[in-house]
Amino acid sequence: MTSENLPVVVIAGRPNVGKSTLFNRLVGRRQAIVSDMPGVTRDRKEGEALLRGRRVRLIDTAGLEEAAPDTLYGRMRASSESAVAMADLVLFCIDARSGITPADAHFASWLRRQNRPVLLIANKAEGQAGTNAALEAYSLGLGTPLALSAEHGEGIADLMGEIAERLPPAEKQRRREAPKVDAEGEEEERPAGPLRLAIIGRPNAGKSTLLNCLLGEERMITGPEAGLTRDSIAVTLHDDQGEIRLVDTAGMRKRARVEEHLERMSVSASIEALKMAEVVVLVIDATLGVHEQDLQIGRLIEREGRACVIALNKWDAVEDRNATKKAILDRLEISLAQVRGIPVVTFSALTGAGVHRLLPAVREVYEIWNSRISTGELNRWFEDALERHQPPLVDGRRLKLRYMTQVKARPPTFLLFGTRAEQLPDSYKRYLVNGLRETFHMPGVPVRVQLRGTK
Ligand code: GDP
Ligand code: GDP
Repeated sequence: MTSENLPVVVIAGRPNVGKSTLFNRLVGRRQAIVSDMPGVTRDRKEGEALLRGRRVRLIDTAGLEEAAPDTLYGRMRASSESAVAMADLVLFCIDARSGITPADAHFASWLRRQNRPVLLIANKAEGQAGTNAALEAYSLGLGTPLALSAEHGEGIADLMGEIAERLPPAEKQRRREAPKVDAEGEEEERPAGPLRLAIIGRPNAGKSTLLNCLLGEERMITGPEAGLTRDSIAVTLHDDQGEIRLVDTAGMRKRARVEEHLERMSVSASIEALKMAEVVVLVIDATLGVHEQDLQIGRLIEREGRACVIALNKWDAVEDRNATKKAILDRLEISLAQVRGIPVVTFSALTGAGVHRLLPAVREVYEIWNSRISTGELNRWFEDALERHQPPLVDGRRLKLRYMTQVKARPPTFLLFGTRAEQLPDSYKRYLVNGLRETFHMPGVPVRVQLRGTK
């Protein structure tokens, strides 16, 4: 096998984090000049490494930093762009002793968009050094950081194993990867293309009427599309921000005509639509008020982690609008506490009055669903929250909660670290979730907090 056909592993990161040192470690010869002065090594270094029996082509991007544009970030990016483009795996290094710098964060967000597999490395973590930075590194959204020391050779065997696991299968080398998907099969990154929207609700809530109204307003075309299941028809709307794809609309029409088992069916049908959607519009017949089934669908939306807008339809037929709205909002607030502050839009799909407010509300909640909070901001709030309301005693001892970081968006998901954190009572977790939602303005989206015990 020539070097050209080997899987390509690229070492990237800002100057001085230890890229060259790591390169030497993996290649096993002292090929690169290592120095304390940033940007001293000048040439792009390549070498072959043998990792768990697999030969790989290793590229060190240190030294490419000088030729490039004048900001540090610009240099990092320019130096890495061509290398990353051809990478089967990027080893993104940070310095665990200095912590995450703005340049690291910037580069990480660019790297996430490159759609290449990334292994995050917290270097200079010999002994127990750098544990905090390693935790902090979760916030980069590049998965679990691997703490190691290139200079002292600690963690290198683990690293080799991790790399070997992430390489494409030998026969499929050089193939492009699909978008990154997490363990639950959810996309971690905002995919290119239209926002995916589902309109769901009980039979006769007015979903078809709403769809026709939206289509009439937007003068859009519907039609079968390749790659979709036989009876699913893609409908695309346009608003001032681009395209919105409606999912599972064919199923919706068909089911609405079935007379039997309507109640049960509308929930199971909702599950399908939900899974395909990013944002869900839950249509409720305002003349009937909130039905148990609406709540069931609402809970489903939260369980599946989707963003939600509640549409109170048939507003034209509602007599006392103030009282109706208050009654419905109260019921939702009490029974759907998981999704506090969901945006509620009132309209009449029949006359079209108010329907123009729906898509802007969808866009807004979509942005929130995708949002990320910086680790600094998050932990400033977290310290405050702990002070205002101490964590409870469990078995007579107070839980020590240390640190929080956002690991994922879509929906916003946070990891909470602390001694015995996994024993945190639900009530306190709810306190944190509600605080997060309020402070960082995340109404209408599920907010997840996962607990991680540390020693
Ligand atoms: P590069 O600019 O990213 O290629 O970084 P270098 O490999 O040139 O390393 C920069 C500095 O960090 C050098 O002084 C190295 O000796 C030091 N260094 C590299 N790895 C480690 C490590 O694991 N622990 C410590 N403490 N220092 C390291
Ligand atoms: P679906 O089963 O959710 O798709 O509901 P449809 O769109 O078929 O509507 C069910 C019934 O409600 C039809 O008779 C519609 O004309 C009526 N409807 C839908 N939207 C409105 C509305 O905004 N106001 C009123 N008064 N009736 C509506």
